[in-house]
Amino acid sequence: MDKKDIRSYTYSELQEEMAGLGEKAFRAKQIYEWLHVKLVDRFDEMTNLSKSLRQRLEEEYEIRKVSMLERQISNLDPTEKFLFELRDGNVVESVLMKYNYGNSVCISSQVGCRMGCRFCASTIGGLVRNLNTSEMLGQIYQIQKISGERVSNIVVMGTGEPLDNYENFVRFIHMVSDEHGLHISQRNITASTCGIVPNMRKLAEEGLQITLALSLHGSDQEKRKRLMPVANRYDLSKVLEACDYYFRKTGRRVTFEYSLVQGVNDSPEDAKELAAMLKNRNCHMNLIPVNPIREREFQKPSRKNAIEFKNKLEHDGINVTIRRERGSDIDGACGQLRRRHITSKKEN
Ligand code: SAH
Repeated sequence: MDKKDIRSYTYSELQEEMAGLGEKAFRAKQIYEWLHVKLVDRFDEMTNLSKSLRQRLEEEYEIRKVSMLERQISNLDPTEKFLFELRDGNVVESVLMKYNYGNSVCISSQVGCRMGCRFCASTIGGLVRNLNTSEMLGQIYQIQKISGERVSNIVVMGTGEPLDNYENFVRFIHMVSDEHGLHISQRNITASTCGIVPNMRKLAEEGLQITLALSLHGSDQEKRKRLMPVANRYDLSKVLEACDYYFRKTGRRVTFEYSLVQGVNDSPEDAKELAAMLKNRNCHMNLIPVNPIREREFQKPSRKNAIEFKNKLEHDGINVTIRRERGSDIDGACGQLRRRHITSKKEN
């Protein structure tokens, strides 16, 4: 039988587990600290626990960790990309971006993805499986250990759709912001969704303070459908209503992401429609010139066109930025490093 994944237990669950083993309550605090602050990967490193307790833990639980397979360091800017192997041999990627306000890590939430966005490398092989909470935490913990620097911001914008792995994702948010663990402020966490309406509404009711980012990519329902199959399931009007609901419930301004694809969604009319859509919403718009991937034809607009697009939105009163490109010399776009890894394994 599989041992229990101890790094996926919340602080209060760990307290219950320890009570079940007849241990004193402070043991849970000690163990949580080893797992989530000191970031050890073995029970025998938990030196303030008795040998017999360590043995007992060893028998019933395992500490799931992710192991680094590859690390790419950009020569252009302070960005690093990591490929991690999970215990079943699957791989996921994460990115470390250093800013003057702190270190930000972009993590994956699933192995692969089933959302099928046309320009995204992560979805090409479909969904393999959800990540456990410990595997989401593990990406951050390993990066913190490897870099020797504290992570202060998290974006859940790597491979996968976090709201398609809802329970583990919400647990992850609770655990990474827990004062007994890394204690990263929820306000420093952003999660991006392609727009799974029921789960956006559920998330709004969790009492969290994270920023929700919505992948928009089209200025109306029909245009969105061309790039995002998920739009066939949820009408844009319902998606926008769910964004408004998130803002009402949490007071957190929603971010809209818009990947600019040359000749597909980057015309002046697109900008006009977008501005009309977002005009009365308290939001922020992030334009991402599409990162071309090997398997698809899509190209990014010229820098000049992207700036014109941004200026049009700004002119209409929209709060907008163009995402600064990071790590373009290392497999920067979502899922590209993992894709390359899988493809090269097949070729050998
Ligand atoms: N499943 C989530 C997280 C995806 S990744 C979501 O759909 O929001 C985060 C953002 O990067 C999304 O807006 C996604 O659409 C975008 N993205 C994915 N591949 C891209 C590419 N090749 N170029 C530009 N943006 C991309």
